[in-house]
Amino acid sequence: MNEGLSFPRRRESNHTIVMDSRLRGNDEMANVMSPQKTPLVDKLRQRIDEDGPLTVADWMQACLADPDHGYYMTRDPFGRRGDFTTAPEISQMFGELLGLWAAVVWQQMGSPGAFRLVEIGPGRGTLMADALRATASVPGFAGALNVHMVETSPVLQASQQKTLAGAASPVSWHRDFSEVPDGPVILLANEFLDALPARQVIRHQGAWHERRIDLKEDAFVFVIGEAVDEQAIPASLREAESGSIFEVSDAVRDVTAAISARLSQSGGAALLIDYGHATSGLGDTLQALKGHGFADPLAYPGEQDLTVHVDFDAAGRSASAAGARVWGPLAQGDLLERLGIAARAVALLAGADKSQAQDIATARRRLVDTDAMGRLFKAMALTHPDAPAPPGFETVSWA
Ligand code: SAH
Repeated sequence: MNEGLSFPRRRESNHTIVMDSRLRGNDEMANVMSPQKTPLVDKLRQRIDEDGPLTVADWMQACLADPDHGYYMTRDPFGRRGDFTTAPEISQMFGELLGLWAAVVWQQMGSPGAFRLVEIGPGRGTLMADALRATASVPGFAGALNVHMVETSPVLQASQQKTLAGAASPVSWHRDFSEVPDGPVILLANEFLDALPARQVIRHQGAWHERRIDLKEDAFVFVIGEAVDEQAIPASLREAESGSIFEVSDAVRDVTAAISARLSQSGGAALLIDYGHATSGLGDTLQALKGHGFADPLAYPGEQDLTVHVDFDAAGRSASAAGARVWGPLAQGDLLERLGIAARAVALLAGADKSQAQDIATARRRLVDTDAMGRLFKAMALTHPDAPAPPGFETVSWA
């Protein structure tokens, strides 16, 4: 599953896309410098002093979501001046096509007169704004929907409020998916699952151990913690060679289960797009991005993006166990082609000047090409168990 590990997944639209498919090993961690003086450093230091070394999931949770100093809680990280760029920020075509996907799903559901259009982890709100604009002319759709934005970051919530200020449908905000009121749901989430905390377990002396983060001589370092129950590791991977790492995200499991329970109860569908692997595998995918480049995941706590690749196999298993039907995963490039990105680009080109035309062509390549975001990024759909294949997923029912 070494496909594109450590790929710099998000880049500004007019930057050259640089690939780095090396598996970033521990030796590159050897240059862990002493922790920079970020406000979170003292808090983490104190926690380790009191409770011992942190799991990788604890580390991610603190760095991304600490209420005072967490990365997403304190800033808008997107765009050229930020640390990374995401698909909806690259081109309006992305949100437009996902909006049309939602409209077709709604028609497949029998065009219910009321439903929840939910987005989890909506960043700046760009995807939702593009989706609403693209579907404004679908008869009955805008009138039937209530928008529900699920976002933990107050800074990004404010940004989304600004972006959606002119929305024709009612919009409300929640901190957790469980707060979205009853009723059928069509849910979109782009690059949300990769921001959820994951544990890492490491093979050591014939057993699996928790990988933890400790403070040694004033530097944060990875250490091997206690032996763990190997139930969470697929049987085929358990006898891996020493030093192998397996990632387990309880948060991804829980949220996919919650979404699936809702879909199987109230009807609807979800489209989850993220970078990751279709089959559970070994590997260290913990990745930090700062200023559009890779950084040391143990440096600058709270001041750089931290992610792990999504294990779609595990997400699919948890969704299926919770009652949803699972579709895909499908490569992002294939999904966008099937949803008609070529025709959408042609339509946009009709009104574009020369430089805009170039931007549209570049954006399309970045979203679709296999050596850009087209293959590493994958889309998985979840539906009510009796629902037909959602658009794009006609040939890819999950095993
Ligand atoms: N979907 C957007 C942003 C991706 S970044 C885009 O494609 O541009 C991840 C987003 O998830 C941010 O908005 C972040 O604040 C949000 N987020 C992170 N953890 C979350 C959680 N537990 N619940 C809801 N949102 C969360």
